[in-house]
Amino acid sequence: INKAAPTKRDYETLVELDKKHFLHPTSPIKQQQEDGPAFIFTEGNGIYLKDIHGQELIDGLSSLWNVNIGHGRKELGQVAAEQMSKLAFSSTFATFSHEPAIELAAKIAEITPGDLNTVFFTSGGSESNDTAFKLVRHYWKLKGQPEKKKIVSRRKSYHGVAMGATSATGLQPFRDFTTSLAPDFYYVESTPESFRAFIEAEGAETIAAYISEPIQGTGGVIMPPKDYFKEIKSICEENNILFIADEVITGFGRTGTYFGVEQFGIVPDIMSVAKGITSGYAALGGVIISEKIHQDLIDLSDGLFMHGYTYSGHPTACAVALKNIEIIENEGLIDNSKAMGEKMLEGFKRIQDKHEIVGEVRGLGLMGAIEIVEDKETGERFAEPLAPSIVAESLKRGLIHRGVIYEGADTLIFAPPLNINEEEVEKMIQIIDEAITAAKSNVK
Ligand code: PLP
Repeated sequence: INKAAPTKRDYETLVELDKKHFLHPTSPIKQQQEDGPAFIFTEGNGIYLKDIHGQELIDGLSSLWNVNIGHGRKELGQVAAEQMSKLAFSSTFATFSHEPAIELAAKIAEITPGDLNTVFFTSGGSESNDTAFKLVRHYWKLKGQPEKKKIVSRRKSYHGVAMGATSATGLQPFRDFTTSLAPDFYYVESTPESFRAFIEAEGAETIAAYISEPIQGTGGVIMPPKDYFKEIKSICEENNILFIADEVITGFGRTGTYFGVEQFGIVPDIMSVAKGITSGYAALGGVIISEKIHQDLIDLSDGLFMHGYTYSGHPTACAVALKNIEIIENEGLIDNSKAMGEKMLEGFKRIQDKHEIVGEVRGLGLMGAIEIVEDKETGERFAEPLAPSIVAESLKRGLIHRGVIYEGADTLIFAPPLNINEEEVEKMIQIIDEAITAAKSNVK
C-alpha cells in the first residue's frame, strides 16, 4: 500500500481546476475563464497575505473588511480545535443551548450600546439583514399592525445578497443581477427630507423599518451628512418606524469605536453584525435587538418563533468570536484603529496635496477613501474611471485594495486590519502615491 501523502498539485493544475469547477462570488466571470485566478493565497500573517509563489501583499481591505485582528492568529485556531473536539455541534433550536452561544450573547449585550441586549445568531451579514427584515414585520404583526411591512433603505447602500438583503441594497448593479426582487422594499436619497417625503407619500402605517450602514462601505466609504442619523432616528421615533443599523462592516472597532453608531450618538432598535465578530476566522453573524423589542416578542408571542438557521449559534464560530473579541479588547485594537486611522487620513491628505487628480479624501477609523477627479476645482471625473488601473498598479507594488466605479464613482477604498502599525500605514501610503503616479502617466 502506498501510504505517501498525496503530492501537492502544481500551480497550472490548480488554475485549470479553478477555472473549470469554481464559480467565484462577485467576480468578472469571463476574465476568470481567460486569466484564471489572479492570486492563490496560501498564508496570512498580520496585515499580510502570501500567495502560492511566496509573494507577500498588504491586505488593504482586511480581505472583505472582515479580518479585523489581522491574519495568522494561532489562538483562534486553537480555540476552534478545542471546541470542535469537545462539542463540534449541537442545536440551539427550541430550548436547547450550549455554553459558547450563551457566553457570546452575554458578551455582545455588554459591548453593544444602550439596551441592545439580546442576539439572534446567523452565519453572516446577508442572513442577519434578512432576519432583521422578517423580524420587524413579525413584530408589527404581533403589535396588531400587519400592514406595517415596508423596508426603507438608502441609495448606494449595500446590505448583502440574500433575497431581502439584495432588495434593500440601493446599489443598482447588485439589483440588476436578477430579474425579480422581494416586494415592499424602497430606497430614499440620503437626506432627512427625502425620508420625510417618503413617509408622507406612503404613510407611516405601512412602514416597518429604516435600515442604514453607519458609513456606507461598498458604495465607496460614504460618510453620512452631518446630524443625518440623529434626525432620521427622531423621524423614526415620531412615526413608529424601527431603526436598523447595518454594522456588518462598521462593527467591532472598524471606525475607532466598538460600533459605528457610537460615532453619531444614536442607539438603533436593531443592529446587524457579522464580519469582524470573528475577524473571518469562522462564519458568524447576529441580529441584536433592544430589550423593549425582546420583551414585546415574548409578551405578544402567538406561538413558536418560526425563524432559525441550522448554524444559528454554531458552537465553534461562537467560541472563535469570544476569543476574537478578547483579542480586540486586550490588545487595544479599537484605540489603535482610531490612532492609525488618523495617520492613514494624514497620509491621504499628503497624497491629495501632491496629486492633481486627487479630489476629496476621507476616513473614520480604519475605513477610508480617496476620490479620483479630472478637475480638482469642479470635482469632474475622468470619462474613463482611473480607479481600476490604480488598483492594478497598487497590486504590482504589493498592496491590495478596491476601486469603486459603479454609479459614476471613481474612488479608491481602504480598510486595513486594526492591528496595523505606523510603519505599515506609511508603507501603504507610499504605494498608493506611486500607484497614482503610474496610473496617471498611462492616461493619454
Ligand atoms: N451588510 C453590509 C454593510 C456589508 O458590507 C455586507 C458585506 O459586505 C453585508 C451586509 C453582507 O454580509 P455577508 O457577505 O456576510 O452576507
